[in-house]
This record gives sequence, C-alpha cells and structure tokens, in this order.
Amino acid sequence: MSLIVQKFGGTSVADVEKIRAAARKAIRAQQQGNRVVMVVSAMGKNTDVLLKLAGDVSSHPPAREMDMLVSTGEQVSVALVAMAIDALGAKAVSLTGGQIGMKTDDSFSKARIQSISTERIERLLDEGNIVVAAGFQGIDDDLNITTLGRGGSDTTAVALASVLGADACEIYTDVDGVYTTDPRLLPEARRVDVISYDEMLELASLGAGVMHNRSIEFAKKFNVPIHVRSSFSDAEGTMIVAETESQTASVCGAAMTPSEARVTVLGVPDVPGKSLQVFSAIAAKKIAVDMVVQNVGLEGRADISFTVRQEDLQTTLKTLEGVVSDVGADAVTYDDQVSKVSVVGVNMAKQTNVASTMFRALADAGVNIQMITTSEIKISTLVPRSQAAAALRAVHQAFSLHQKPDDAKSWHQIRSERGNRADVDSLISRLQADALEALTLTGISLTKEQARVTLHGVPDKPGIAADMFETIGEAGIFVDMIVQGYDGEDGSTSVSFTINDDAIDHSIAVGKEICKKHGMRDIQSGTDISKITVSGIGLRSHTHVGTILFKQLADLGINIEMIGTSELQVNAVIATEKADAATEQLKKAFAASLESGAV
Ligand code: ADP
Ligand code: ASP
Ligand code: MG
Repeated sequence: MSLIVQKFGGTSVADVEKIRAAARKAIRAQQQGNRVVMVVSAMGKNTDVLLKLAGDVSSHPPAREMDMLVSTGEQVSVALVAMAIDALGAKAVSLTGGQIGMKTDDSFSKARIQSISTERIERLLDEGNIVVAAGFQGIDDDLNITTLGRGGSDTTAVALASVLGADACEIYTDVDGVYTTDPRLLPEARRVDVISYDEMLELASLGAGVMHNRSIEFAKKFNVPIHVRSSFSDAEGTMIVAETESQTASVCGAAMTPSEARVTVLGVPDVPGKSLQVFSAIAAKKIAVDMVVQNVGLEGRADISFTVRQEDLQTTLKTLEGVVSDVGADAVTYDDQVSKVSVVGVNMAKQTNVASTMFRALADAGVNIQMITTSEIKISTLVPRSQAAAALRAVHQAFSLHQKPDDAKSWHQIRSERGNRADVDSLISRLQADALEALTLTGISLTKEQARVTLHGVPDKPGIAADMFETIGEAGIFVDMIVQGYDGEDGSTSVSFTINDDAIDHSIAVGKEICKKHGMRDIQSGTDISKITVSGIGLRSHTHVGTILFKQLADLGINIEMIGTSELQVNAVIATEKADAATEQLKKAFAASLESGAV
C-alpha cells in the first residue's frame, strides 16, 4: 500500500469550508487505497496573530515562551481537521510534534530536527486512521516545545515523508505550483512543471517563500519527490525532483528577499582571524549571513560587509557591539533599506554573459547595484528597497523567464526517461537516524591556477557593472566568481573577479581599458591563487560551516581573498601556496559531516 504525505498550509485550512475540503482530499486519497499522513499549518494568519500578541505583552518575549505560544496555532488546526474527517465518516487521529516524536535541538524558533519516531504513526495507520500531524513544531530533550522557523511545516512534511519512506509528498498551498518568481509580485511569472532540488533549495533560501528551504534539504538528502499544487483544484502542479526542467536555460528562476539589511564592519585589521571573530559571533546566534564581501583598504585595514535578514539586524548589531573593540575595528554601519535580487540556475556555470545580462537589465531599469556576489548556481545583487520590484521585473524579463525554454521537459517525460533505472541514490542509509538535519558535505575540492583581478574606485552608479562585464565577455574572457563590495562611505566601490590564470594578461589589459573609460582609480591583480570549494547540502543555513572554514584558514595564517556562498557550495579564494594544506585541514575539521566516499 502506498503512503502519501499531504501538507496543507495556512490558507488551505483558513476556515471551516477549507478545513472540510482538506479533509475530503485526504479521505479521497485513503479511499484510493493509500495510507495518508496529513501535516497541517496554523489556520490562515494565526501565527502572525500570535506573534503580534506576544509583542503586545512584551518587547522581549523569552524564546521558549514564544515557541510555546506559536505552536498552539498548529494544535488548533490538527484537532479541527481530525474532527472534520471524523464528521465525514472516516477515522483520524491528530498528533502534536511531541506525539509524533519529533525531537529537535533546543534553538527555539529555529530548531533543527534530530529524529522522528515512526512507530506511533505506523500503528495508527495500520488501524485505518488518517494521521493528522502538527507542522512546524517539535520537542527538545527536556520536552520543551520548539518550532522550526517560519514556514517550517513544509519541513515537517518532507521530514515525515523521508523517514516514513513515503511514495509521494504533496504540498497543498494557495498557488498551483512553483513559479519562475513569486506570481504575486510578477503576474507574468510562469509556472514550471519541474524544478531541481538544487535550484529550489537556492531559490527558497533567496526568498521564494513557496517552500521552506530546509524542507528541500531533506528532499534532496532522501530523494523525496515533492509535488507542489493548489489546494483549491485538482490540477497537477510542480514536481521538485533531482532533474532540471531544461538542460540549456541559464536561469530557471528569480527571487527577491525584500527585507534585507547590509552591515559593514569598518577598519578591521587585515590579518587572519579577524573575520573569524566577526562571523563566529554572529553564527553562534544561528543567524545566516549572506553576500560576504571584504574590501582591502588602506593601511592594512579592511571593511567587511555582509547581509542578514532585516529581522536579524538588531541581534546582529548587538552581537557586534562586543566584537568590534575586541577585533580592533573602527565602527559598524548598516543600511536596513535594501533588498536582495537573485537569479538561480544550475546551467549558468557553463555559460558566459549570464552575469552581464543581469547587470545590463538592472542598469537599463536605472537600478544601482550596491553589492554583488556569485556562486556556481546563483548571482545575487543588493539593491535599494524602493527599486527592488522594478529590479526583479527587469531581471525576469531579461532572461525571458515568462517563456518556457525550447527544451523544457514535462514531469511525465522525465519520469518515463527514468524508466526502470533506479532513482538517484538516496543518502538515507548513510545518514544517522539521530541527526536528520545534521550538516551533510559531499566534498572538499581545490581548483588551482586561478587569478584575481580587482578594480578599485569603481563609480557607485547604475550601468558600470553591466558595461564592465559586457566588455570582459566581448573580449572572450570567462569569469568565474564576481564580488562587488560596498564602499558607499566614499561613493565608490571595488569589483573583483576570478579567471583562469592563463587569462590574466588579457584580463589586465581589458581591465585597464575599463579603468580608463570610467575613471576608476586603479587595477590590481593576484596570481597563484586557488579556489577551495566545500560542497554539501544547506551550507548557508548551517551557520557553523563558515565558522569552521574561517577558523581552519585562520589557524594556518591564510587570508581569504574572496568568498562566495550558496546552499550547495562555499568557495573561498586563497593563495595557492597554502591551498593543499588548507584542503587537508578542512577535510579533517569537517570529517564528521563528510559522507563516506566523499572527495
Ligand atoms: P502556505 O501557507 O501554503 O505554506 P505560503 O504563503 O508559505 O503558503 O507559500 C505560498 C506563497 O508563496 C504563494 O502565495 C506565493 O505568493 C509565494 N511565492 C513566493 N515565491 C514563489 C514562487 N517562486 N512560486 C510560487 N509561489 C511563490
Ligand atoms: N504556521 C507556521 C508559520 O506561519 C508554519 C507554517 O505555516 O509552515 O510560519
Ligand atoms: Mg509556507
């Protein structure tokens, strides 16, 4: 008998009629001969209402009590859904996170799942029940109620599907699938038939709120196919699977994080270990930093800029208060009126002009790019919040995301091509059952013979990045990483990019032309550098990855020249001289997280 996990989000259980409709969907699946586990979120906007209530009572509600409070939303829903099923003549039992044995760590409001005991669920299913499990919540070792983070019911659902070995995991929501960008922001967005785990993980982490990013970590690790579909119709939605929709399209989707904040630590002494102090303090608060850029300035001092979600800004600033003087930095500045606009696609690494297409689109829309970072599957830009919507539209248009790529495959095609071939190997057997959401690394590797070019004094105005990377592209130079820092204090910025080291002379020549054309200050280059790559699943959300990386490199006295992060990779550019030693050191430091057989 097949087992199906069906998850219903807040809008899908927002009122009595919707609760009945959800109950009917589950009963129908059961009548078709499936064992059915439902995962249900709080009704409508109930979680927001509870959060507001807490805010009205206290400006600093204790984290434990917050989780105690917000978890009640899901408890209301599961009981009502179970009652609705009962009223419709089928059998159902509702269970809280504690009752499904959802054990988590004790980081309230961001708890990670450690283990799930399936016996009770299995027994109830055997007895003919539909099991209605509360999403978003778990319990820690002390039986405190914890929650997984906003949108976390998706993670409950995919985690349950993983440990129960479900045949399908259906996410019922208020859109009929995953779109090329949030259809509420851009009506021209296109629903995709298929999207790969890697792309969805990155998009979710960069702002595509349709799926909780950590749910995709589970799906990828356990190879669970996810079907995102509308709770208001029976139409097929989007399949999130290992395969991509197109083998050629450079970009599969665009995302925006509207409420981002930029933080800059000014005048950090440019010696190894200083960034470690800054980032480890923030990581200890489980705050994910993104878009890390370091600008080496004058007199051996560097400015370190990075972004955090606006909701994490106050904690970040507070954390830095203590660190700034310890590190010997000058000051901290921030901007809380910025948004991050990103494009994602697994095919982009093989193609040229992807970055320049994005920058040109932004330039033509009059958008000034404040920061740029790239990784193998994404390009992120930081833009003024007032221009974020226009920026997203421009980028979506530039990559023709509203049009289906010519070689797009449907899920049916992909499935039939899979044929009898066993599905992509699941990592399940290699994972520890008591550390389900532990960091999983797939490799640590080194790319030697790289070079870096940095342009200083780049005018901070629209169109410069576009012109620069168009010129470099026209010269036939293949650029790997790109980083544009924030130097806003003096109205100019610096841009660095990496290339193969055989392209260095050509790049310097082209760079000099660019410098002259735009009146930039100077060009600087570095050869004998290597890119060290840590690959895995959910690297940005596992905030300690950065800390370990920074610590190991600092211990070896290695300066990180550039850094690029995604959910799948962290890339650090360092001097080749110490690169082999660094790789060995990192393999040791990450040994516990490296899958057996990983390289
Ligand atoms: P639920 O309550 O069912 O979990 P969410 O509000 O969390 O629903 O997620 C659904 C919403 O996600 C949609 O209404 C849509 O506005 C938003 N969204 C953001 N990015 C995307 C995207 N790329 N594709 C589809 N929906 C998206
Ligand atoms: N109710 C929780 C929230 O609103 C969890 C969820 O809906 O996934 O964030
Ligand atoms: Mg959601």
